[in-house]
Amino acid sequence: MTAQTAYDELIRRAGEVALLSSCEALLGWDEVTYMPRGGTEHRARQMAYLAGLQHERSTDPRLGELLAELEGSPLVADLLAPAAVNVRELRRSYDRLTRVPRPLVEELARTTTFAETAWEDARHAAAYALFRPWLEKILALKRSEANCLAYTGEAYDALLQEHEPGATSQNLAPLFATLQRELTPLVRAIAAAPRQPDLSLLERCYPLDRQRYFCTQTAALLGFDFRRGRLDTAAHPFCSAIGPGDCRITTRYRLLDFGQAFFATLHEVGHALYEQGVDPEHAGTPMGEANSVAIHESQSRLWENLVGRSRPFWEHFFPLASRVFVGVLDDVTVDEFYFAVNRVAPSLNRIRADDVTYNLHILLRFELERALIAGNLSPAELPAAWHEAYQRNLGIVPSNDAEGCLQDGHWASGMFGYFPTYTLGTLYAAQLFEAACRDLGDLGPALGRGDFAGLLGWLREKVHRHGSRYAADRLIELATGSLPDAGPLVEGLRRKYTELYAL
Ligand code: ZN
Repeated sequence: MTAQTAYDELIRRAGEVALLSSCEALLGWDEVTYMPRGGTEHRARQMAYLAGLQHERSTDPRLGELLAELEGSPLVADLLAPAAVNVRELRRSYDRLTRVPRPLVEELARTTTFAETAWEDARHAAAYALFRPWLEKILALKRSEANCLAYTGEAYDALLQEHEPGATSQNLAPLFATLQRELTPLVRAIAAAPRQPDLSLLERCYPLDRQRYFCTQTAALLGFDFRRGRLDTAAHPFCSAIGPGDCRITTRYRLLDFGQAFFATLHEVGHALYEQGVDPEHAGTPMGEANSVAIHESQSRLWENLVGRSRPFWEHFFPLASRVFVGVLDDVTVDEFYFAVNRVAPSLNRIRADDVTYNLHILLRFELERALIAGNLSPAELPAAWHEAYQRNLGIVPSNDAEGCLQDGHWASGMFGYFPTYTLGTLYAAQLFEAACRDLGDLGPALGRGDFAGLLGWLREKVHRHGSRYAADRLIELATGSLPDAGPLVEGLRRKYTELYAL
């Protein structure tokens, strides 16, 4: 067998797995948008069948043989050529999937299914005791999983790298320390500022059909290609890349809330622009796939916060909003509106947190889950540790565990090591935006005209088209000239909010 024959077979097999996964994605999208309730049971059978097939195909020993054949061959000599990238990335996922024994995978799937229900009940009743035994079981299973995977340093890193290859807690800790040191005083200064926005103007009656129209128009203006995508409604906003030419996003509308649907749309458009910008020639292989969870999140945060919450953006969009929401904003100025969409206040809820406090929510979760996996913190001590961390970082404490350590479902689903990707995404977003402004000149005038083509073109060139060619930190370094760094995020937030709140 020549290396080329082996490679062709590898790519054909990878393509089959990608097809199965895209069928799964389409069924998943349908489940939360249009499927009638009566379809639930049959859908569960379809999904389980596809998941089984996908697992079988992605752990087929033949893949291991092909990879071994190719590694070291001249075909992969150029490490940045598509063939080498595909072999490297397919090896990584093959190893991850085959190193953890099947009984452990099944035990984890079973336990987390029950744990998710227990977590929902516990959160509903604000009774941590109902969830604690499940957390203990999951922690034990996750430690076993980590032990099956190759890692250096902490067991936590093995789990972290499941979501963000290459990230280590040792590299993350100083980034989080910087954020904590710089952002905590900023949050306190903002809370104490006499100048505060009027939030009520975002809570007026915004007719749902007008919101849908405004979100659709905005998505198209930002560059979302509706010939290759859709925007629908779902309880939880998300972006699902079904395949080349088909990327679907969702949002949710609330009558008395302008921000919820609009900013969720911007966020998902950011994810979708990335998916619509990867190279279709490499579809079904890692070269044609988004780089990492954190790079993905950098794209959504860049469009949501750095573009969509900027002053120039609202110079263009506020007059449009005033026309679309007839009569609703007649007594409001663009400055008042811009201030309202940039409100900062310590809160107990991560999902609804603003972009200054958001990373404080993440960093305390990182510290807690790292300690839980290491065994330095027991599940019994978690609620008290959560309180203490909120007091220390945000100056507020939850009145019960539903608002506290039961608020996120990640741990019930076994997703330890996922939270840091949110913060890495915001750091990367700030670095990328700063670099784009450096390369393209002041972006303000273009954004103020509703012209996003320059910025999108830059992101296509520096990030999107590379797919999984580089490790995430290398991609950031090549695009921005610096390794992952909290500086641009901290500087950007300080500059913006010092001015807004007249600190
Ligand atoms: Zn996101």
